[in-house]
Amino acid sequence: MYTEVKDAEGRITAIQTDEPARDILDNPLINKGTAFNAEERKALGLYGHLPTRVESMQSQVQRVYRQFQSKNCPIEKNIFLNTLHDSNTTLFYKFCSQHVDEVLPIVYTPTVGDAVEAYSTDFRRPSGVYLSYNNREYMDEVLSSFTTRQIDFIIVTDGEAVLGIGDWGVGGMDISIGKLMVYIICAGINPARVLPIQLDVGTNNPKLLDDPLYLGSQHKRVDGEEYDAYIEQFVKCVEKNFPNVYLHWEDFGRGHARSILEKYRPQLCTFNDDMQGTGIVATANVIAAIEATKTQFRDHRVVMFGAGTAGCGIMDQILDAFVDSGMSREEALERFYIIDRNGLIVDDMEDLPDFQKKFARNRGELADWEVSDTANITLTEVVANSGATILIGCSTVKGAFTNEILRQMGKNTRFPVIMPLSNPTANSEAEPKDVIEQTEGRAIMAAGSPFDPVEYQGKTYQISQGNNAFIFPGLGLGAIAVKATAVSDGMIRAASQTLSSFSPLHDSPDNPVLPPIHDAPKVSKAVAIAVGQQAVKEGLSSMKAEVDDVEKLVELAQWQPNYIPVRR
Ligand code: NAD
Repeated sequence: MYTEVKDAEGRITAIQTDEPARDILDNPLINKGTAFNAEERKALGLYGHLPTRVESMQSQVQRVYRQFQSKNCPIEKNIFLNTLHDSNTTLFYKFCSQHVDEVLPIVYTPTVGDAVEAYSTDFRRPSGVYLSYNNREYMDEVLSSFTTRQIDFIIVTDGEAVLGIGDWGVGGMDISIGKLMVYIICAGINPARVLPIQLDVGTNNPKLLDDPLYLGSQHKRVDGEEYDAYIEQFVKCVEKNFPNVYLHWEDFGRGHARSILEKYRPQLCTFNDDMQGTGIVATANVIAAIEATKTQFRDHRVVMFGAGTAGCGIMDQILDAFVDSGMSREEALERFYIIDRNGLIVDDMEDLPDFQKKFARNRGELADWEVSDTANITLTEVVANSGATILIGCSTVKGAFTNEILRQMGKNTRFPVIMPLSNPTANSEAEPKDVIEQTEGRAIMAAGSPFDPVEYQGKTYQISQGNNAFIFPGLGLGAIAVKATAVSDGMIRAASQTLSSFSPLHDSPDNPVLPPIHDAPKVSKAVAIAVGQQAVKEGLSSMKAEVDDVEKLVELAQWQPNYIPVRR
């Protein structure tokens, strides 16, 4: 056992432990390895367990970097870093904080996808909490065993829709762990106060069902009422054992993600990055583009190609930003168009799901449009007839933004906003090179995947990737810092607005729309402060005392990867 010694303001100043020497070195949260100094080695009985020389943390970081560079491929680097994380967490985060650009693609996307697929074959040691449907009667017992420490944050997945790679069952644990690392690297969430959880309800992936080494429950996914009851049991256990926790849902399947978020959002401080995070970043880009080009929201027409989960989620948030700018909801909706497999969504279409219905265009308004088939109005026709100024893709249809469409966007407006967000790269609606060339270098663009810079007429255009790492860490930190009881739409809007204020577009429309990824920690802190302030303003903070300095609360909530004294 160890306890945190805190000062009057709640900062951790030392660790007190009664663990034997070997257990201290095996506890990644307090281990310092060769950096334990002479005094600590004596007090903790570490003599003989470590080589003689006492090292500084920076010297340890240098060795880690050398070892990191010696690994031949991303997955080897991922395994190396995870091993470091599991032996000395503080050193791992110190290293990550000094090499954010290099580390994020290794601990999270895209490399984490390979780690998820190889989870059972490469398994080394368990990490996180595994809750199996088949042992559901033990769920409360398992979770209550973690109440001996303060838990601020839970990330949970059922592994059904991992990134763009589908159902990887228990391998989804690596996604939760990778995403947590991003939370900690970018926002300084305290690694001792987090819990990654895997809900093992089976898998529908035939490869895993046939794999003798697969480590999860080897049966088809539990679904329907049984699944819903299991989620309900999980939420109840979380509320009982961790009353103030921030609950992040990760990579749930299409059939469950929306209904879970809608059901539990009113009762819990909860967030789904797949459904909400991308929308926040896309909205921030739209706000930055409108402000930087000195146009008005009412001058714009927004077209979404691919009206599924992500597409309509993003449109909901952009709609909120239009309404925030001073328009009525009806006026704003007149500027929105969504397109799916049967073309433009129009109000006389049958069986439209609720999330599409609100964006359906009135058939009568389209009477003077020039189209070849009124029952299936194409993207090309929508872009030409609506005068679209903002075009977003969430369809997974490679090349859907043809050169003709891109040129038309360039004719509609001086600075068209074009965001082909489908992942992976092979599904992108447009190649950045075509977007830049067909709009004569005027497009403001962000893509869903990383792309190399584009050279056009002697200029280099950096292509922003709509990376959610700019948003979810700060949102979580802000909510935790003020002990928010919910993640409201207002907090989400505050996050978008704050990210938009960091856009390099404000300096020149030729700049990328998003800052470089190594700025994510700076952006996250600003997002956290804005989100915390908004929560307080809306009466959503459950702090006992009155909150007047959110910035200070955010700083106090931030964990820093520095060694602190360990003593008996
Ligand atoms: P989804 O299946 O819910 O939505 C896709 C939609 O596109 C569906 O409604 C589908 O009917 C429509 N569609 C497919 N073919 C079409 C066609 N030929 N014409 C018009 N519409 C068509 O999937 P989703 O979760 O919304 O994800 C969509 C894409 O967005 C994926 O590639 C995903 O990776 C990407 N995405 C990116 C990010 C990011 O951060 N960049 C975040 C979330 C989702």
